[in-house]
Amino acid sequence: MILNKSLNQWIKEYPLINNLINLKETIWINPKKIPCEEAIKNSPITIEDVIDASNRLERFAPYLALVFPETSAMNGIIESPLVEIPKMQAALRKEIGKDIKGKIMLKCDSHLPISGSIKARGGIYEVLKHAETIAIDSGMLNLQDNYEILAEERFKQLFSRYSVAVGSTGNLGLSIGIMSAKLGFKVYVHMSADARQWKKDMLRSKGVNVIEYDDDYSLAVTEGRKQAEKDPYCHFVDDENSKDLFLGYAVAALRLKKQLEEKNIVIDNEHPLFVYLPCGVGGGPGGVAFGLKLMFKEAAHCFFAEPTHSPCMTLGLATGYHDKISVQDFGIDNKTAADGLAVGRASSFVGKIIEPFISGSYTLTDEKMYHYLAMLTDEEGIKLEPSALAGMKGYENIAVTDEGKLYIENENIKDYMDSATHIVWATGGNMVPEEIMKEYYDKGKDI
Ligand SMILES: *Cc1c(COP(=O)(O)O)cnc(C)c1O
Repeated sequence: MILNKSLNQWIKEYPLINNLINLKETIWINPKKIPCEEAIKNSPITIEDVIDASNRLERFAPYLALVFPETSAMNGIIESPLVEIPKMQAALRKEIGKDIKGKIMLKCDSHLPISGSIKARGGIYEVLKHAETIAIDSGMLNLQDNYEILAEERFKQLFSRYSVAVGSTGNLGLSIGIMSAKLGFKVYVHMSADARQWKKDMLRSKGVNVIEYDDDYSLAVTEGRKQAEKDPYCHFVDDENSKDLFLGYAVAALRLKKQLEEKNIVIDNEHPLFVYLPCGVGGGPGGVAFGLKLMFKEAAHCFFAEPTHSPCMTLGLATGYHDKISVQDFGIDNKTAADGLAVGRASSFVGKIIEPFISGSYTLTDEKMYHYLAMLTDEEGIKLEPSALAGMKGYENIAVTDEGKLYIENENIKDYMDSATHIVWATGGNMVPEEIMKEYYDKGKDI
């Protein structure tokens, strides 16, 4: 029994669960999506919140440019390139066996400075906001100051009285760990069993306390939360419930809008934008999708992508039970090579906010991710970690399958697919050590 319902009852009510249990690649279209203006009006998070977050990141830019020289070329703004991938598009076209309408692009969060993954958005933002609050409360910082002063020893002294804790499958730990340690905080990163050894080693080399668990992400988060509750000077970055993380991710949409404009790519109802976002607990892809809906309204069509072994957001959204159920409740093992997506229970905070906005979600196998990994390396010379390839199946799912075609018809955009832009959100990879990347690549070639 799961929440007082037998498995048969669950499957009868939500037939999609049967596919998820059988680890079949699944496409789910969201019947709860409503007109965007209405969804925005009802949302507890607003455009003002996102702009506030964006302004905060601007205040910190001079500090970041100073302490992370790799960000100085962009004046301390942590942003990633949006690139065309024509050879990959041609290879996908060959594989799908159909013409690909519109243009496929790659959003290279894999190459975000400081921590090489989408977590450099939300994770770093939350730590900066926390530091700003402490510094202002102490009377040592004003909003008008040049934030370069935060690099001074007296601020490190101040922050060293506080600690930051987080539970993570790896990449969030990297972001929070690197940023917090740089500011002078004590840091505790609670790592799930999925976390790669090199991520733990790198954090320890920066003076971060890494606590390891034999269990999955949910336990690492629970233990981290417990530790932090005992200590009033400890801030817990709550990946399952944090509004600040969410806002840090949402700022990406403001930046993407500018990038598209700079490339003269029009997005409106006759030039639809499709975005495919790899999803773990939901904060990263949820925040980005939310921001994109604020920016582009009905013209943006956002889809989550998950491993067949960890379809927590698909399960949570399709049933509406969000974090009340986990994939393990249904006998799905949450074991995937896509460590950034190895989450068995979705965030209900994100699920409920994103429910009226999101177009749908789909699952794909680990083999498919490895395959795309090798293909993208061969075609474009771009190297990503397995999680970051989940979005690569989006085009095929939306433009070629029956579910996708029905979606396009219902949205009345069939005639505009030639002028569509498809963005595959490449969420991580730049920090993967070369020898491990080689293993990934070889695996992809073997498939
Ligand atoms: C964390 C992560 C995601 C998903 O973000 P969530 O906030 O967990 O949904 C996707 N890809 C990579 C590489 C990640 O590290």
